[in-house]
Amino acid sequence: MEFIARRWDTGEPVRVTIHNGRWSGFESVASPHSDRPFLAPAWVDLQINGWSGIELTDPQLTVERVAAVLQGMDRHGIARCCPTITTHSFDGMRHSLGTLARAIREDETVRDRVCGIHMEGPYISPEDGPRGAHPLVHVRSPDWDEFQRLQDAAEGHIRLVTLSPEYEQAPGFITKLVESGVVVAIGHTAADSSAIQAAVDAGASLSTHLGNGAHRTLRRHPNYLWDQLAEDRLTASLIADGHHLPPGVVKTFIRAKTVSRTILVSDVVGTAGRPPGRYDDSPLGSVEVLEDGRVVIAGQRQLLAGAFRTIEHGVANVMRFAGVGLAEAVEMASLRPARIIGATDYGFRIGAWADGVLFQMNGDGSLDITATLNRGRLVCGTLPAAE
Ligand SMILES: [Zn+2]
Repeated sequence: MEFIARRWDTGEPVRVTIHNGRWSGFESVASPHSDRPFLAPAWVDLQINGWSGIELTDPQLTVERVAAVLQGMDRHGIARCCPTITTHSFDGMRHSLGTLARAIREDETVRDRVCGIHMEGPYISPEDGPRGAHPLVHVRSPDWDEFQRLQDAAEGHIRLVTLSPEYEQAPGFITKLVESGVVVAIGHTAADSSAIQAAVDAGASLSTHLGNGAHRTLRRHPNYLWDQLAEDRLTASLIADGHHLPPGVVKTFIRAKTVSRTILVSDVVGTAGRPPGRYDDSPLGSVEVLEDGRVVIAGQRQLLAGAFRTIEHGVANVMRFAGVGLAEAVEMASLRPARIIGATDYGFRIGAWADGVLFQMNGDGSLDITATLNRGRLVCGTLPAAE
């Protein structure tokens, strides 16, 4: 396979060759080819809750539904992701995790696209606001025995856990998670400064969708946002979809964390893409899709119940909102999350898997995906010519 595209980091046109699913050459070409799409390492999204009418946290989840969600990501430039299981009963979570593990084992299209499972909850804050759309009845304190049973059901594929460190036993729990090779993120939290400090000392290294899953009114300082912003051992994931965080907050968070400690996630939910209306069949409870596509908890218009815009919107938005350059915006959605989750065989190196996204930048700063490569296979769109 061979084509000419512009590198995302230098803008330089290169003839790209792929052999046996892996990058085999990036040869500079002389002519300008300024009309060619950009080629970048495909996005790695650490937070996919579902897509197109399918929630992954669902007692009815099947292997086929898992495959449908993951294949739905192809046209959004995502080559790897963490299917995300949220707060539910033990049996509910065990079913979803077991089904994901079986899908990874049995279905190659799933195996190729998953870089670990993200378990978000159930060990989060019970308080309204921090809890977000997670059902209160299933929120609980960290329990290592329960986690081990869930990890067994997941056949060891849980690679990322989002929890609130506000519980007394959190530091010990975090230490065990990190020792077992799981990345620990702080999220959906009402923790005070000392609990956040203790969590980071114990090995927490990420803040999940910083600024969301938070109280609507917060003490001015200290609070858990400043604490996480100021903590250089925490990378922050942001939902930069234009709805979850105002542009000024995205800019301020990126300036505080620096681009090298910021990643993008989509947090898309299964209701995303459904027509406006109320849905009582969501495992999140009753949700409503508004006219503009936002997904909210039914009956009010403030508490978002997950996102509906995939990660490429975030890439374009951080450039618009925070003045971040293309190369850095791409890194936030691809190479950096890949590193965090331990996907080491990833990136633009000869011999690495050819996972790429091709896209055009529009005059208004938006981004249109023209093709996605997953392990050297064209899974969406068309490739540019080789001449
Ligand atoms: Zn969340």
